[in-house]
Amino acid sequence: MTHLKNLLPAAAKTLLLAVLISTTSSSVTWAEEETGPAFAPPVTKITAPEIGPGMRNNSNFVVVLDPGHGKTGGHYSGCHFEYNGITYYEDEITMKIASYTKQYLEQNSNYTVYLTKDSAETTVPLDQRAAFAASVHADLFVSQHVDSALGNGTVKNAYGVSSMAPRTGRYNNELAVQSQDAANTILKQLTTLGLHNRGLILRDSENGTLFPDGSQADYYAIPRYSQMYGIRGFIIEHGFLNHTSDLTLFLSTEVQYKALGEADARGIMEYLQKAGKSTFAQTAQAAQASQTGQASENTNNQNAGTVAPPPVSESKGPGVS
Ligand SMILES: [Zn+2]
Repeated sequence: MTHLKNLLPAAAKTLLLAVLISTTSSSVTWAEEETGPAFAPPVTKITAPEIGPGMRNNSNFVVVLDPGHGKTGGHYSGCHFEYNGITYYEDEITMKIASYTKQYLEQNSNYTVYLTKDSAETTVPLDQRAAFAASVHADLFVSQHVDSALGNGTVKNAYGVSSMAPRTGRYNNELAVQSQDAANTILKQLTTLGLHNRGLILRDSENGTLFPDGSQADYYAIPRYSQMYGIRGFIIEHGFLNHTSDLTLFLSTEVQYKALGEADARGIMEYLQKAGKSTFAQTAQAAQASQTGQASENTNNQNAGTVAPPPVSESKGPGVS
């Protein structure tokens, strides 16, 4: 769509596009998005885009929306489902939902909204999505997805919305509490559309990945990186493409995508107006940066086969003062 304004500033976009990598096999679709490299790189070298005076004013909330997935190797990496001769792609749907969320939030001048990418065709490594959110001091970072049940196990007939959020009671506990609160607020808004609420999905690393303080890390990359960067961040899953009720009632028309995007926006506004701006970004980033060396050693020792995070570019893109 052409109505996307105020997307990633040129410099950040250049940075993100410069680090695009072709990730692993696309034979498994949706699950890939939720993993990724173990540790987040420091964000201190990222050039924060200039978005004008008032950026850190309490009356101006910064929201980063992350439309899930994108093309790798010429193919969409998200889930898809064919129904009545039409193939529905998660990658395209998340782009639409995010665009509507952004439009809705920007009707209120108190919100500065960025997307991590500007096209369903584009993919961005997960750590870079979170790094961008941290670099603009996001008060809320929401990765927007659509679910799919793979057909083996207990979720075969799953339906409804859910959130992959950070677990509380360990590294950056208060931040995790806030992320869960924000996620639940958005889920509650989505249920007003008639969607079933599956609640929070909390999953721990299954390959021994630890947070810098030695506590167990979260499995999903977005909540894990958000915890490490000190930003409120999580995944929202907007129903199941391969559940015909979710698909036909919520995931198959432009009107439905708009309703989902606006429900997200209402949840974001409800949470931020209650909780205020995030106070974690600065302190947590400093702590994380100082421990990155140690964390990298842990990664090498304990996570054979884990892809190392790409270095954060020092690129100063054109057009940024
Ligand atoms: Zn997904």
